[in-house]
Amino acid sequence: MTNPEALAIHGGTPVKTAPFGTGMRFGEEELNELGEALNQNTLFYHFGHKVKQFLADFNGMYGVKYSVATSSGTAAIHVALGAAGVTVGDEVITSPITDTGTVIGILYQNAIPVFADLDPGTYNMTPESIEARITPRTKAIVAVHLAGNPCDMDPIMEIARKHNLKVVEDCAQAYLTEYKGRLVGTIGDYGCFSTNDFKHISTGDGGIVTINSGDEADYQITHAFADKNYHRFGNVVQRDITGLAPNYRMTELQGAVGIAQLKKLPWICERRTAYGDRITEGISGIPGIRPHKVEEGNRCTYWFYMLRVNEAELGCTREQFCKALEAEGIPNRAGYIPKVVYLQPMFQNKSAYRGSQFPFNLSDGVSYAGGACPEAESILETAVQIPLNEFYTERDIEDIVSAIRKVASHYRSV
Ligand SMILES: *Cc1c(COP(=O)(O)O)cnc(C)c1O
Repeated sequence: MTNPEALAIHGGTPVKTAPFGTGMRFGEEELNELGEALNQNTLFYHFGHKVKQFLADFNGMYGVKYSVATSSGTAAIHVALGAAGVTVGDEVITSPITDTGTVIGILYQNAIPVFADLDPGTYNMTPESIEARITPRTKAIVAVHLAGNPCDMDPIMEIARKHNLKVVEDCAQAYLTEYKGRLVGTIGDYGCFSTNDFKHISTGDGGIVTINSGDEADYQITHAFADKNYHRFGNVVQRDITGLAPNYRMTELQGAVGIAQLKKLPWICERRTAYGDRITEGISGIPGIRPHKVEEGNRCTYWFYMLRVNEAELGCTREQFCKALEAEGIPNRAGYIPKVVYLQPMFQNKSAYRGSQFPFNLSDGVSYAGGACPEAESILETAVQIPLNEFYTERDIEDIVSAIRKVASHYRSV
């Protein structure tokens, strides 16, 4: 007989024996919407009703007046920056732990990404670090609400107003996330969402930008920036070329799926919040384990769960911990992205456009050296990511908690 307390990696019985809960993300609702979209005999957003309905539903859910649909979350961020007037040589402050989509739009506007350091518990940019990075060239802040956990928006907005900066919220991982009772994506000047296939809701690919000033002119500028700078409002279409803008239009097929997906979003987020918070409750107080921190009064909708280990306190390396947890039947990953964004070759080589150093060569003193954001680097060296899914059962969550406790208690005692 095997000793149930022995780690599975040492031949003991794994904690997780029943498979994780799974489910279908798409069903009749999406099919019906798609059928209706095709029956319109057009898949163009401006002629059909699906993208319009998707945005109207989204606006209702978020309590905003205006939003624009895009072809991706990356596109949404680019559109927000373009509409905000971010341009050649400007500096834009953002997070070094994020998806590449956060910085793509900055560089396409020929602006220079500047990275602020993160809070050790929430993994989001600290207001202090943002303020320390401000120079006369700073034009905007892209605040990334990592993994569905809100940034500290009150001080960030205060700093932005003081220095006359635009704030773009990157909410690609943060649907229905709340900061002190307010939905993120409605607090900055623009809120950007992604509906790529890995996010809380999927339209295959897609994105949304909210225009939080509620100003019609701002809306029209933003709308046009996602559509070649064509102004399509009601029956008026104006194609005068007054400036450069990409074509990031969403199609009716995506809008149709989005309508059905949005109806599922509150349930998806309820599950994720409950599951993530339960893991935190279950693993709090274990020496050497630092749970995913959510500040009091905020709501995290956990796109993933990410704890940190302290190897000395835990009595094993992060790699040993991850392997042992995996053997207990709990999928996990050491860290999140392989390294902080500024340590990627594009930044180290200062070459975004093939054969060119532009716009990096416009920058004056922006450093991408190792150690620039020590806490962010340390987070990636000590983090353990645990995927979460709304289809998991409560039993699955209890198994995750038990497995973490079992592995931690084993290494502490040897
Ligand atoms: C997914 C993601 C993006 C980009 O979204 P796409 O739809 O993949 O272009 C941007 N920022 C963050 C934080 C993301 O997670």
